[in-house]
Amino acid sequence: MIIAIDGSAASGKGTLAKRLAKHFGLSHLDTGALYRAVGLQLLNAGQDSKNIDEDQCVKSCVELDITLTTSPLIRSEKVAEMASVVAAMPAVRAALLDLQRQFAAAPPDPNGAILDGRDIGTVVLPDADIKLFIDADIHTRAERRTKELLQAGQSVMFRDVLTDMQERDTRDRSRSAAPLRPADDAIIIDTSTMDADDVMALALSHITA
Ligand code: C5P
Repeated sequence: MIIAIDGSAASGKGTLAKRLAKHFGLSHLDTGALYRAVGLQLLNAGQDSKNIDEDQCVKSCVELDITLTTSPLIRSEKVAEMASVVAAMPAVRAALLDLQRQFAAAPPDPNGAILDGRDIGTVVLPDADIKLFIDADIHTRAERRTKELLQAGQSVMFRDVLTDMQERDTRDRSRSAAPLRPADDAIIIDTSTMDADDVMALALSHITA
């Protein structure tokens, strides 16, 4: 079974992907972590999101230190912004495409794979068995992200998180390369008034149906 989950930042797609992976015994790939790892690698190399060199970004994808995808350092707002800037470059997306498709084609778990991101159902795995698109009101999402960052020990303010999220949303939805949008055959779930258990129950009811 192959499940594709797309959605906006802090919509709950990552939590849902992890829970579905556990439920069905699927291997999970958080594709946002790949773009964040590239972003962190570039920041570590002294690159700046306002003045970025595309060749350097592609080189960073090719030479990606995959261990960075599990580093807590990729979870900062600065890295999220850099990830969103590099993710708008078609050459960067092309450089990360095979890795994502290979994971889905030969996942470590025999039952299949679940990938979450922005373009999984539309570009990476257009033939996925199940496609879910997860979204929520931006204020709710910014509140969730602020709480997560504070719990992780980062000092952030709601207003700054909201502004960063609005900028990132606009960039992710309006870019020409693989913009954030639901696939035509995706099931859309709005999590604004739902907790993680509600979202899991609704997703499972759609999948089993
Ligand atoms: O999901 P997450 O917030 O970790 O993703 C970070 C950034 O990576 C997103 O804002 C988006 O620009 C980019 N991304 C993407 N395509 C994906 C996954 C993430 O463009 N499949």
